[in-house]
Amino acid sequence: MHGMTGPARLHLDWTRCDGHGSCAELLPELLVADEWGYPVARAGERDPVVPAGLEARARHAARSCPLMALRLLPPARGRPAPPERTAPLSSPAPR
Ligand code: SF4
Repeated sequence: MHGMTGPARLHLDWTRCDGHGSCAELLPELLVADEWGYPVARAGERDPVVPAGLEARARHAARSCPLMALRLLPPARGRPAPPERTAPLSSPAPR
């Protein structure tokens, strides 16, 4: 099958999150509140993979976030993106 590849992922925008923790209560399979109430992925990943069976609940948790800090990222189209690369720092040309 072509088209969508890879799983959906859950993305948390830390700049918006205020850590009241309702998402961790709605989606305990993927998220756990840390000692300050901020949600972290149980597996420790940055954008945890959402298993197909949990997509509806992950979407609900994202919609329930009062600060729109949680988003369900759809599966990537086509090939998975290569890892991000940073350009090497170029040294100034000799004079
Ligand atoms: S529901 Fe939203 S604001 Fe609250 S802890 Fe979760 S991501 Fe942060």
